[in-house]
Amino acid sequence: MKIFNISSLSELSQLLKKAFHPLPSEEEFIAEGFDVQLDEYRNLAKGGKQCLAEMCRKEIEKTGVNSLKVKYNKVFGYFFEVPKAQASHLPEYFIRRQTLTNAERFITPELKEFEEKILNAQTKFQERQNFLLDEIQKKVIELSSSVQSLSKHIATADVIQGFATLAQKKNFTRPTIVEQSHQINISNGKHLVVEQNLEKKGERFIPNNLEMNEENSFHLITGPNMAGKSTFLRQNALIIYLAHIGSFIPAKKSIIPLCDAIFTRIGSGDSLSSGESTFLVEMQEASKILRHATEKSFVILDEVGRGTSTYDGLSIAWAIMENLENKGVKTLFATHYHELIDLAKKLKKAKNFSARVLEDEKNGVIFLHQIFEGGAEKSFGIEVAKLAGLPSSVIKKAEQILHQLEQKNNQAKITNNQQSSLFDIPSSPPEKEIVYKK
Ligand code: ATP
Repeated sequence: MKIFNISSLSELSQLLKKAFHPLPSEEEFIAEGFDVQLDEYRNLAKGGKQCLAEMCRKEIEKTGVNSLKVKYNKVFGYFFEVPKAQASHLPEYFIRRQTLTNAERFITPELKEFEEKILNAQTKFQERQNFLLDEIQKKVIELSSSVQSLSKHIATADVIQGFATLAQKKNFTRPTIVEQSHQINISNGKHLVVEQNLEKKGERFIPNNLEMNEENSFHLITGPNMAGKSTFLRQNALIIYLAHIGSFIPAKKSIIPLCDAIFTRIGSGDSLSSGESTFLVEMQEASKILRHATEKSFVILDEVGRGTSTYDGLSIAWAIMENLENKGVKTLFATHYHELIDLAKKLKKAKNFSARVLEDEKNGVIFLHQIFEGGAEKSFGIEVAKLAGLPSSVIKKAEQILHQLEQKNNQAKITNNQQSSLFDIPSSPPEKEIVYKK
């Protein structure tokens, strides 16, 4: 049985607005005034006081017995009560049930029928309500393809409106998308989220450029911790992504080639419950990239090979770098393996870049957050550890070890007759301390 005759979305919208209670609960979710029968059950379930008063008024009118009252008790349920002296004025359909000292109690077929209704009203209310909900759901399902298509249009409009608002608010520009090219040219690109966070602290985001082409498709990014390498990688991936989904972008000017995929290997995560360690996950992600990335892809790799021993990690990073460079995959590769700087110098399509800092006796280390051409051989990791609050005894020890390792390494380079062991550590403190400023 079809109880709602509607065929359009506007009718469905009217139906839904009318059907549902403004403050729905599990017991009561269909609104008053939507269905006559449901309202009747609702009134009855809530005591039917109005109906009883109406029935009593009618009986008084019919019988002329003004003292007639409707009462309720657990033994007899609902009944009429009149003073003894008035009882004889009641017509025959009043059936005597009880005689009290001063009053007589009666029932009528109509009152009993009404009582039955009240007692079943709650159940009937729920049944009717569920029935109506089913009918409404059927109607929604019947019109679901129209609902879905409307939702898609609304979602598209919503996204485009979001893009437009952001573009206007943040001075985005329209990217030039080129189909058959490997050239990327992003000038003054920004990472919107990092910029927003910096602005809250009254700091300024430093925009950076990215230029790549067929002969220059692999950028090795070195430089100190906290200098902005990861931000640079991510901002470019995001800009390229935004350009592909039809948005304007946070850059002054841009030429972006149509990519077949954007791959990222960033951060660290594990999946211990399914037996995957952090390093395994890192390698799985790297493996996916190496298998699927083409020269039309854009790849960002942030510190590959850090989760294993130094030499294992370096060897893996090295081999991955060669593989991607060789295939001409457009890649930004951030690393603290400074050994790779020499490799980048040798590979045809690779170039060194670095997020540099100014090192100054008086002011300590100042971050420029700018990406320059050329490699940077220092990471200042211990200084960042200091910033992060590592105990000073640990920092001191780390400084001693670093100093000794660097000395050994330099000696080995000079004599060139043996490789120093990383873990053969004598102990004497470094002479100069660098103050690290954020
Ligand atoms: P690590 O090697 O330790 O991972 P990193 O070189 O990758 O560091 P990021 O994580 O990119 O450094 O940046 C560290 C912080 O520096 C950011 O959270 C941000 O506050 C600031 N920063 C990064 N890039 C910029 C920029 N272009 N302009 C201004 N501030 C920046």
